[in-house]
Amino acid sequence: MTRFIFVTGGVVSSLGKGITTAAIAVMLEKRGLKVSIQKLDPYINVDPGTMSPFEHGEVYVTEDGYEADLDLGHYERFSQASIGRHSNATTGSIYLEVIRKERAGDYLGQTVQVIPHITDAIQTAIERGAAAGTDVAIVEIGGTAGDIESLPFLEAIRQFGLRRPKGQVMYVHLTLLPFLAASGEMKTKPTQQSVGKLREIGIQPDVLVCRCEQPMTEAMRNKISLFCNVRPEDVIQEQDVETTIYEVPLDLVREGLDRAVMEHLQLDNSAPIDMTDWEDLRFRWANPEHQIEIAVVGKYIQLHDAYKSIYEALAHGGARHRTKVNFRKISAEDCADGDVASLLAGSHGLLVPGGFGERGLEGKIRAIQWARENQVPTFGICFGMQAMALEFGRHVAHIHGANTTEVDPDCAAPLIHLMDTQESIDDKGGTMRLGAYACRILENTRTAEIYGRDLVFERHRHRWEFNNDFLPQLEDAGLKCAGIHEKGNLVEVLEISDSPFFIGVQYHPEFKSKPLSPHPLFSAFIGAALNFSRGTTAAVPSEVEAR
Ligand code: GLN
Repeated sequence: MTRFIFVTGGVVSSLGKGITTAAIAVMLEKRGLKVSIQKLDPYINVDPGTMSPFEHGEVYVTEDGYEADLDLGHYERFSQASIGRHSNATTGSIYLEVIRKERAGDYLGQTVQVIPHITDAIQTAIERGAAAGTDVAIVEIGGTAGDIESLPFLEAIRQFGLRRPKGQVMYVHLTLLPFLAASGEMKTKPTQQSVGKLREIGIQPDVLVCRCEQPMTEAMRNKISLFCNVRPEDVIQEQDVETTIYEVPLDLVREGLDRAVMEHLQLDNSAPIDMTDWEDLRFRWANPEHQIEIAVVGKYIQLHDAYKSIYEALAHGGARHRTKVNFRKISAEDCADGDVASLLAGSHGLLVPGGFGERGLEGKIRAIQWARENQVPTFGICFGMQAMALEFGRHVAHIHGANTTEVDPDCAAPLIHLMDTQESIDDKGGTMRLGAYACRILENTRTAEIYGRDLVFERHRHRWEFNNDFLPQLEDAGLKCAGIHEKGNLVEVLEISDSPFFIGVQYHPEFKSKPLSPHPLFSAFIGAALNFSRGTTAAVPSEVEAR
């Protein structure tokens, strides 16, 4: 029988509900339980695929090709849970389903209403989210208690608890204890009011997790307990972390969240929980031996969340090498107009992330040219890989008019183009090449050396593809194909094989990197950047430059 934990949030948004949810998953897995995690989002977009990264951060892609909220990235980085399209539902997807059924006449003349039809559909989605064999399903409700748009979700999870035996469903509410500098104290009133909002609609939280900058005093704990009707030992503090979000599971275990959850779900917690691997990670993270700086040249550089998984994956690679990775975030447009050398000088590696559209492409190409000519380790992802092909095509292989048809449909040399089968697609939502595809890694390549395997599965999110007509010219000039999707004969990896690191991948390896198992490409990239910073780089052979 699957047990359910509902995680809600109060007071303000951006409290780190996704990370707290992921941390709960870590604890339960340490207890040997099989966990699933799901996010319910109150917005009307059917999925986050069409949302601007400026507004909503990156679009995270799951193995099964679902375009998801970045919280699903936290879930995968922290836990072993299998995350896919079943792991997310939005107001839009729920309504779409109900309206489709209504149009099909499935409701047999009933008046279709929020209660029970929408709330039933939400409960069906929750059940679908818990894969077969799941011991505990954790469900995070997006938004903040008191929002109009989250009401149907809160109503649905209330009903869900009502229909199940005690001990099978619990509610965890995350709140904020704001610190008032003027009076020098933390305040509990917002927490009381947000719990009040939940209780108004019939949800009594079992556990409160209180985000705070300062430690919570016993007096505060007792006050919150009394006013919110939650046992004092179930009022858990979650203080700001010192170095990394990956400390959160350790902190929350120490504060008793593991005990509280196990007790409420009537699960055995007599054995001590073993968090050694996370302790080791924290130690490595907090005590780096080296520091490097990676330049990230992208279009959405102002917002950290827009490249969330990339920054995380770089940091994972850093932790593996006991290296603190500092980011130099550079707008691609500045590289197009400005002095690339001075923008990039002193960085130890260049990462060019994915992107769409014209803005920034030329800047990315200039940055790559500078990095290649100065033998700075270079890692291109998706649009970044396409930009590497264009840079090399233009400046080393001297292919006149090399471009992508995404930017210039009539260019003389479409190195990056749409496949014939894609030309007729007009819809913007869910129509790209999405999710995991097999990639055969070719022998005697740098990429093969790094992966140590000849077949990998990596995730995609793009429309345009490398144009094989130009491969011989690029290979002759020194940019080799190092990985292909055999079924479609699609180039997935390009590299300069004798460079320490000049690799572009059509896929998004950042989605598969975890703090406890960094992605090999990110780990190798950081290793190359570290070598570069120490001046131990083997120079790129001159014939590559000379062509
Ligand atoms: N715009 C490019 C394409 O669609 C790259 C997409 C990306 O970087 N995610 O092919």
